[in-house]
Amino acid sequence: MNACSMTSIVFDFDDTLFEMVPNMLPFANKMFQTGIRYEDCYTFNLSLLFGRTDDEIDHMFHQFCMSDDHKKMVPTPGMHKALQYVSSKYNAVHIATARKSKAEIARSMHNALVQHDMMKYMQRVFMGSSKGAVCKRVGAVAFVDDAPHNIEDVATDSPKTTRILVDRPWNQDYKEDVIRITSGYDILNIL
Ligand SMILES: [Mg+2]
Repeated sequence: MNACSMTSIVFDFDDTLFEMVPNMLPFANKMFQTGIRYEDCYTFNLSLLFGRTDDEIDHMFHQFCMSDDHKKMVPTPGMHKALQYVSSKYNAVHIATARKSKAEIARSMHNALVQHDMMKYMQRVFMGSSKGAVCKRVGAVAFVDDAPHNIEDVATDSPKTTRILVDRPWNQDYKEDVIRITSGYDILNIL
């Protein structure tokens, strides 16, 4: 198979394939003595949201990844179906995540994918790399993410890639050229 016949789709992990923030909030609220609700999450920036330093947020997230709350994390509705569909239609499915490349964090993600029978669809998991660079490198047909800055990154570095945004409270102000979806089922009508 030559490079031109390769087609692939790239998915973000947190709040794209899995419902991360809804499961992380109770954990973070307990640690930081806050009462932030999902609807209150107006920004993707957790430091701003909780009024904490980046180091404090990193520490909380690391603890969350090793907690039982992380084990309870479920896939976003329709995403299992979407993976099944795209993996039958395209050559490869990859994950590109901003999660830091640490053993415990990688393991927590891997466990969630295995637990929900989604790892079988994945060819590669790219951790901590720029999503634009990943899409360019694999020649992604489409990229799915919840964070506007990642959509922008892909628009710049891999302009031919179709950009799909998962609707979340923190991306309501984003009005650029993007396909907005409310569940994984929408992907079946788009790709
Ligand atoms: Mg995300």
